[in-house]
Amino acid sequence: MTDTDKSPSNFIKHKIDADIAAGKVKAVVTRFPPEPNGYLHIGHAKSICLNFGLAQQYSGTCSLRYDDTNPSKEEQEYVDAILADLKWLGFDPRRHVYYASDYFQQLYDWALQLIRAGKAYVDHQTAEQIHDSRGTLTQPGQPSPYRDRSVEENLALFEKMKQGEFAEGECVLRAKIDMAAPNVNLRDPAMYRIRKASHHRTGDKWCIYPMYDWAHGQSDAIEKVSHSLCTLEFEDHRPLYDWFLDALALTPRPEQTEFARLNLTYTVLSKRKLSELVEGNHVSGWDDPRMPTLSGLRRRGVTPEAIRDFCDRIGVARANSTVDYALFANCIREDLNKRTERRMAIFDPIKLVIVNYPEGKTEWLEAENNPEDPQAGKRKIPFGRELYIERDDFREEAPKKWHRLAPGQEVRLLHAYYVTCSAVYKDADGHVTEVHCTYDADTKGGWSADGRKVKGTIHWVAKEHATLHEVRLYEHLFQVEDPNVVAEGQNYLDRLNPDSLKIAPRVFMEPGLRQAKYEERFQFVRNGYYFVDPKESLPGQPVFNRVIALRDSWAKEENKS
Ligand code: ATP
Ligand code: MG
Repeated sequence: MTDTDKSPSNFIKHKIDADIAAGKVKAVVTRFPPEPNGYLHIGHAKSICLNFGLAQQYSGTCSLRYDDTNPSKEEQEYVDAILADLKWLGFDPRRHVYYASDYFQQLYDWALQLIRAGKAYVDHQTAEQIHDSRGTLTQPGQPSPYRDRSVEENLALFEKMKQGEFAEGECVLRAKIDMAAPNVNLRDPAMYRIRKASHHRTGDKWCIYPMYDWAHGQSDAIEKVSHSLCTLEFEDHRPLYDWFLDALALTPRPEQTEFARLNLTYTVLSKRKLSELVEGNHVSGWDDPRMPTLSGLRRRGVTPEAIRDFCDRIGVARANSTVDYALFANCIREDLNKRTERRMAIFDPIKLVIVNYPEGKTEWLEAENNPEDPQAGKRKIPFGRELYIERDDFREEAPKKWHRLAPGQEVRLLHAYYVTCSAVYKDADGHVTEVHCTYDADTKGGWSADGRKVKGTIHWVAKEHATLHEVRLYEHLFQVEDPNVVAEGQNYLDRLNPDSLKIAPRVFMEPGLRQAKYEERFQFVRNGYYFVDPKESLPGQPVFNRVIALRDSWAKEENKS
């Protein structure tokens, strides 16, 4: 079975199949066209998986095209980050890395061609006048007083525009289409505007820059793109996309198809907003582990496999919708469950003393690294008379169905022994400070020789051997499912979750974790998945990022009642 057979079908594949069957398309060529004005986010991943995925399935090609038609200062950083993130996600465009700015000369020549054909003109109205004369959905637009300039005059004025003889905003080149067209995009859209800014690749060579609609379809044609896939907001631009291709009679002819963009609960996926979060220091940078950017998810510890699996599962449709973050969380858990070794860590300790265990004795017990993967082997962990257990695993008054530790109750200490709670000690405020247990020496490894069963298993760390490390606990960046829905006078920034990052400075861990390497991932049993932060860890001092919490079985039980 090939990959094609397994992957979910979608309407775009049906279209491609039909185009191939009809002989319309010989080679499937797609592209991913980011504007280098920010870092890639999980919404881009959907587009990347779609475009590169189709090229793979149809043995075609997919390129990375930087849509760099808007000069701005910091673009090189974004250019580099985009390629790095794309490769990390598992898609290497190799030699197919293109820049719309490489087509500036060709686009300019084609603009001259349109002027000569009477299909474009230089408009000296102000931006405001142009806007006001565009009409509305119910009213046609008004022609510009400059609309009927002669070809010669237009050629001369466009040349002056290019030579920098006009100021920014003084004039634009517009396509001459139809000011009464029902589709507003066809009411003489701008093709070029003057921007006296240095471009990250072309420097000061140009001071006229092509608009998106003018650059995009023609770039597709230059690259012989067969299927130009974009998000739904460009649906109304398709007639314009086609008009330019018709006016220039370009072949082979690319075709635009729209699909729904990804929206995800508890986050924003707009580069403008993500960049505001960075600029406003609401996060530590584009790669803050709370960001929905690929670099943020990577630093959080999410794998490219989990992201690709997520993109497969959400599929591609034509209707806009919002995907529940829980679906993404499940993809992350499923992936990490298979690949991570298990370790024990105690976040909020209470001391447990095994009163019938010899003082000063240390036993090195064997523990399986990953029950999902026998290849992962075993490790030795120290056990002794004094341990730490999680405060949450003990109740003095055990509720119904409580299978963890409580006075008189027997539980299994994972990989170790059965213990029964014999006494509880509290401070003056009633806060439990210590619990005492007895252990059954015949239950070594956590299994009873007489077949006696216990209902609960809890984890622990030996007090003498524990190593203490910082852990960062991440929650959703926003408090509400849709941060864009706000009361008047507020904006999405008012919906930021003040608890999206909590630092646990001293978590007690089994000693082997001191040697955890950068970017290693673990499951802290009964807790969650963790990743050794590549930026802020030091040798012997790993800092752990929580990738995602496991689901808590007791919380589920409690929610039922
Ligand atoms: P933003 O609105 O956040 O600035 P954009 O669409 O302007 O996003 P681009 O860099 O132009 O960002 O996007 C590159 C490609 O990724 C485009 O084809 C775009 O349609 C696609 N894309 C962007 N955001 C999403 C999303 N949320 N879901 C799916 N595809 C997306
Ligand atoms: Mg864009």
